[in-house]
Amino acid sequence: MRRFYETERTLMDYREREKSRWLRMLFITVISIAISLLITFLILLATGTEMMPIIFIIATIAPAVTAPIVSWSISGLMIKVQKLEETHRKLAMYDHLTGLLSRREFLAQGNELLQMCQSNNQPVVFAYLDLDHFKKINDTYGHAAGDEVLVSFANLVKKTLRQEDLLGRLGGEEFALILVNTRVVEAKQKLELLRKSVAKMTINYAEQPLKITVSLGVADWDRPHEENLISLMKRADNALYSAKSSGRNQLAFAKLF
Ligand code: GH3
Ligand code: MG
Ligand code: MG
Repeated sequence: MRRFYETERTLMDYREREKSRWLRMLFITVISIAISLLITFLILLATGTEMMPIIFIIATIAPAVTAPIVSWSISGLMIKVQKLEETHRKLAMYDHLTGLLSRREFLAQGNELLQMCQSNNQPVVFAYLDLDHFKKINDTYGHAAGDEVLVSFANLVKKTLRQEDLLGRLGGEEFALILVNTRVVEAKQKLELLRKSVAKMTINYAEQPLKITVSLGVADWDRPHEENLISLMKRADNALYSAKSSGRNQLAFAKLF
């Protein structure tokens, strides 16, 4: 299953982590006391010193006090490092505004997906989606309004896709999607419906009704062994250019090679 937006992706359960931190502290303390007692015993034995109870009491108390403090601090640092790693991973994988896959992650997962479809001999369709005259929204209503439009658009596209499809924000107001096991005729219907839904949508920003349209450049990948994701994207990009120059708010299909 594809994950095209951030939901429950393998983030560690922090409660579990805290529990194991206590257990680890207990374990390290018990081991430290045992080692301390053993070393003290061996030293006394080797030096022929009298085995006074006070020496063993000190050999127990010293690690019993220091081991929990040291192990608690170290495991605290380890948890911080893990949290930072998770945050870093999420930032690299997902676009912070829309929650969609970032460009890098989309390309990585997209390549995997194409290879999978290639081995299963399934048809695949790639589409670029680029909002029309988006700069005007920013210029007229402000950048925050533009952000709101991007989020609403992303949510609408998410809703129309299946779990197995892949959607990413490649940058700015440009999105990309891969429809798996989909023939170009089905893709045409689906994407045309999506285009119409976008045009129908009203985004309420600060009590202002905002309207947008989208242009799509579509390329189908029906010769699995002759094309990779980059060349598929290149053809879709040319198609997008045609959609834009033919008046926007429309789909254009790429030529086959
Ligand atoms: P076209 O129909 O030809 O695609 O025109 P356009 O205005 O949509 O395209 P253009 O490339 O001229 O402008 C894209 C704008 O998107 C410019 C940039 O400031 C804006 N933009 C890029 N990223 C963001 C973002 O994260 N938030 C907002 N609000 N605007 C963004
Ligand atoms: Mg645009
Ligand atoms: Mg653009």
